[in-house]
Amino acid sequence: QFTESKYYLQPSDISKRHLNFSRFAHKGDFGRVLLVGGSYGSIGAVRMSAEAALRTGSGLATCFVPACGVDVIQASLPEVQVISSSGEKRLCWDEGDMGVNRFDAVGIGPGMGGSAETVTFLESFLNVYKGPKVIDADAINILSNHKKLLNYLDKDAILTPHIKEFERLVGHCENHKQRLGKALEFSSEHSCVLVLKGAHTSISFPDGTQYFNSTGNKHMATGGAGDVLTGMITSFLGQGYGTKNAVLCGVFQHGLAGEIASEDKKRGTIATDIIQAIPKSYLQLN
Ligand code: AMP
Ligand code: MG
Repeated sequence: QFTESKYYLQPSDISKRHLNFSRFAHKGDFGRVLLVGGSYGSIGAVRMSAEAALRTGSGLATCFVPACGVDVIQASLPEVQVISSSGEKRLCWDEGDMGVNRFDAVGIGPGMGGSAETVTFLESFLNVYKGPKVIDADAINILSNHKKLLNYLDKDAILTPHIKEFERLVGHCENHKQRLGKALEFSSEHSCVLVLKGAHTSISFPDGTQYFNSTGNKHMATGGAGDVLTGMITSFLGQGYGTKNAVLCGVFQHGLAGEIASEDKKRGTIATDIIQAIPKSYLQLN
């Protein structure tokens, strides 16, 4: 803690936020999560989010992808269930509520692209789904291009932009100090959580508090690392952590997993290595 409302996350801040589960727990207790995203050529993004969610402990993970992604995911990740959108290459909203409210938490955005159908899809999704959610990647870009969708944000929404996505959302910033100020402003204006990713990821809350992450390293600057984070935070939301604990535990442990993955791989670390290191990262929490 370095000022009243700014905190530097320490391992002891994190361990106290983790839940313990009963020895009689069943998979429903560990949460059913839905990872929504993908488009032709970018199915891997949402697949990585789903695998990360399972490695973080979700009881059941389901992917919601365009039709072209179904076989890809089922063949490469048998633990995951798949809901197919009627769109072949891009997500399309079919009708009704599509059953999305049966999930405990949703992560939406990785690989989804920004086509007109997908914009309509995102709007329908946010209109129908009322639970906790992580909004990432292309879904953030859609919010930037269609500002009226910002009205769907609320205290259960966690946005996870990297710097470029963030500046598309709030406009160009001169330096990081200005970005941090705008992150707090955005969070309070839209009553949502804003995770600004990078080295020392910051997490801004509507009450004006801002946390800075102490884990992770430069070897995590690799395609897909953010999709892994989306899966991890979504997993903790689904496990019943509540928004604040889910986002803080997710960001911190994602960095730990990155440190473990890169120990013997250095700059050769790739995003799926971070996923493989998630189970070991639990051993480092007391
Ligand atoms: P994305 O750009 O969406 O793939 O997200 C990249 C992820 O890797 C974020 O969680 C970042 O915090 C993390 N990351 C990227 N570069 C660094 C760095 N130099 N040090 C620590 N973490 C990083
Ligand atoms: Mg990303």
